[in-house]
Amino acid sequence: MDFALTPEQRLLKDSVKRMAREQFGPDAFSWEDRQEYPWKNAEILAREGLTGITLPEEVGGHGSSLLDAVLVIEAVGEVCPHTADVVQATNFGAVKVVADLASDELKRRILPDILAGKAIITAAMTEPDAGSALTDLRTSAQIAGDKVILNGSKMFNSNGPHARFFLVWCRFGPSARDIGAVVVERGTPGFSTGKPERFMSGEQYCALYFNDCQVPAENIVTDRDGFRKQMATFNIERIGNTARSLALAQQAFDRAVDHAAERQQFGRPLSEFQGIQWKVAEMKMRLDAARLLLYRAACELDGQGRPSPMNTAIAKAYTNQIAFEVASDAMQVFGGYGYSHEFPMEYLFRRIRGWMIAGGSLEMQKNRIAEGVFGRKFSQRNAAGRQ
Ligand SMILES: Cc1cc2nc3c(=O)[nH]c(=O)nc-3n(C[C@H](O)[C@H](O)[C@H](O)COP(=O)(O)OP(=O)(O)OC[C@H]3O[C@@H](n4cnc5c(N)ncnc54)[C@H](O)[C@@H]3O)c2cc1C
Repeated sequence: MDFALTPEQRLLKDSVKRMAREQFGPDAFSWEDRQEYPWKNAEILAREGLTGITLPEEVGGHGSSLLDAVLVIEAVGEVCPHTADVVQATNFGAVKVVADLASDELKRRILPDILAGKAIITAAMTEPDAGSALTDLRTSAQIAGDKVILNGSKMFNSNGPHARFFLVWCRFGPSARDIGAVVVERGTPGFSTGKPERFMSGEQYCALYFNDCQVPAENIVTDRDGFRKQMATFNIERIGNTARSLALAQQAFDRAVDHAAERQQFGRPLSEFQGIQWKVAEMKMRLDAARLLLYRAACELDGQGRPSPMNTAIAKAYTNQIAFEVASDAMQVFGGYGYSHEFPMEYLFRRIRGWMIAGGSLEMQKNRIAEGVFGRKFSQRNAAGRQ
């Protein structure tokens, strides 16, 4: 078993990090205040060949490995969290579901602008009464000739205010297996978005409303029996969430180490106090362990290039948890400067917190891990509501 990256992988990570420092570093922490999507950085990523990293060449991708994509999103996230979100949106998220499962016609129509950094597609799954219990979603899809008619609403659509395309998870029939997905384009009659709102991290989201919204049937990505396929591809989105949470924690750690080496109290650098040294050692142990779990999840793939649900759940839950602890310890090392709005540490702390909820909460990942350990399914429903 070789734990080392190959020379090519090290070169990829180092060169992307260098480029990110030059191109994205100077305004890395300005995007929250501007409430803008970093379109200019999206176009740079596209020019640098860092969109569609794992997508096949015939749809405009680069056919590289999932680990390569992880190294890229880590390198960018260690410099600019908002641009790492663009790497997510153009490699790991709904774009990957479309690339894997949509018809050739739909891919040809929507992927070029997304991969060029000129448009984004978001994942619209969560509903007011269907969060962790995703299979309770009610947005309905009815096929009528060459159209599909959507009715329902969605919550917490990240980047919704900036998106052109929305991958809407919806029901084609009564059973959980009948959950599929349809791409809806902004401007489609019967589709509207709520007012932009903000998470604690400042990320913008909005609600989505479908009122007899008629979409061409070619926009169906999966219909009946789509749920299993979509969830399998959604594990790739979770790998991207995991990598971003690790990258931001790594950034918090690197900043804390530099600060501890420079900041003097009692006439000595903070790094000479054992209380700080042990904190830093704990942070380093956790980051290294999380990285190994993430790389394992990104390397052990099935025949279709998808990570195992168990490895993904372990990597995501562990990383999301330790990233929060590392960010909190890094803030402590910074003292008042860590808690001030004037420095990046508090932003990293706020941002990292969200991944304990987004993309499948910590608790839901742990439920999945327990199922793997015991080798059986545990229904979360009461007897009356079992599906
Ligand atoms: C930053 C951020 C970005 C997001 N972006 C998107 C997006 O782009 N698209 C989208 O569709 N959604 C998005 N979401 C929504 C996210 O997917 C949901 O918030 C998440 O699935 C949890 O659902 P909920 O908020 O309804 O909480 P609930 O499901 O009501 O859960 C509340 C709490 O109960 C726990 N819980 C629930 N069921 C169980 C159980 N069976 N066992 C143990 N604990 C349980 C949960 O873990 C959680 O701690 C985003 C959320 C955040 C925070």
